[in-house]
Amino acid sequence: MRILITGGAGFLGSHLSERLLNEGHEVLCLDNFFTGFKRNIAHLLPNPNFELIRHDVIDPFKFEVDQIYNLACPASPPHYQHNPIKTTKTSVMGAINSLGLAKRVKARVFQASTSEVYGDPAVHPQPESYWGNVNPIGIRSCYDEGKRVAETLFFDYHRQNGVDIRIVRIFNTYGPRMNPDDGRVVSNFIAQALRGEDITIYGDGTQTRSFCYVDDLIEGFCRMMNQDQVTGPINIGNPNEFTMLELAEKVIAKVGGSTKLTYHPLPGDDPKQRQPDITFAKNHLDWQPTVSLDEGLDRTIAYFRELLSK
Ligand code: NAD
Ligand code: UDP
Repeated sequence: MRILITGGAGFLGSHLSERLLNEGHEVLCLDNFFTGFKRNIAHLLPNPNFELIRHDVIDPFKFEVDQIYNLACPASPPHYQHNPIKTTKTSVMGAINSLGLAKRVKARVFQASTSEVYGDPAVHPQPESYWGNVNPIGIRSCYDEGKRVAETLFFDYHRQNGVDIRIVRIFNTYGPRMNPDDGRVVSNFIAQALRGEDITIYGDGTQTRSFCYVDDLIEGFCRMMNQDQVTGPINIGNPNEFTMLELAEKVIAKVGGSTKLTYHPLPGDDPKQRQPDITFAKNHLDWQPTVSLDEGLDRTIAYFRELLSK
């Protein structure tokens, strides 16, 4: 198949590109390099089945493709809050342009949605049937509401125009090729420990997240995209839940050194807890994560150690 990945030079997009090329597909990687890097896909450039296109998803695009994965959007809070109007535009216009192309060329189209559609959840763990608790006017809203509108657009194009959609709600994912300076917690903690800086805990560190290793996530993406039974939305994430203090302790134990914790104010609307209910993914995709946080952190630390030593 010929497959378009928007946001293909980002953390997740680069792993997906690699996986699809290994399966023998042609990959068109479209990216504006806002938070993505050429270094993420440099090893793929010599592959004749790989094509890189510098383009912004806000502007329409036309390609003859069989499948579209729409991943373009900054994912880290400091990045998506840097230009919040642009973030909403990226989610909304990126969804419209991906769906418009899918409609025109009759391609199956996949949306990288997020656990952020559940906001600061009042139901725990979060099943797909939960409608969420999102502040529509807060500093995270550009991302959360943008992703919620994208889901709405996917379902309206599906109902109104028969577009073949798949929606995955991604929970916190980490691994090699995360940007060490993008501000997300796993990359921050590892980069800080490796640089011998103090680890920054926001709030009291008792808020929780459930961390999925990237290879498990990409396996979930491919299973979802290549089955004909369900459109989603479907949660893909690792249900093992940790406090930020527990994560910091693990990173310090693994990296070693004399790193200490420093406490900073909790950013506005920061969700207090998050854990995916993955019953739907288990039942419909026969999918569940296989990489533990310890194993995944070891692999990620090895990648960061090499990157930061250059
Ligand atoms: P990332 O920031 O590494 O990748 C996003 C990519 O999109 C980057 O390459 C960036 O340059 C590109 N991009 C941003 N705006 C663009 C635009 N207007 N036009 C074209 N390209 C643009 O983040 P990621 O972790 O790889 O996330 C990929 C997708 O998965 C995002 O849609 C994100 O919302 C979603 N997601 C990720 C996570 C996670 O934990 N990693 C969790 C939930 C959802
Ligand atoms: N966090 C932290 N220190 C950091 C970066 C993040 O304590 O240096 C916290 C953040 O406040 C949040 C959690 O870690 O409670 C996860 O943050 P991240 O930005 O990775 O993802 P998200 O909040 O979008 O789930």
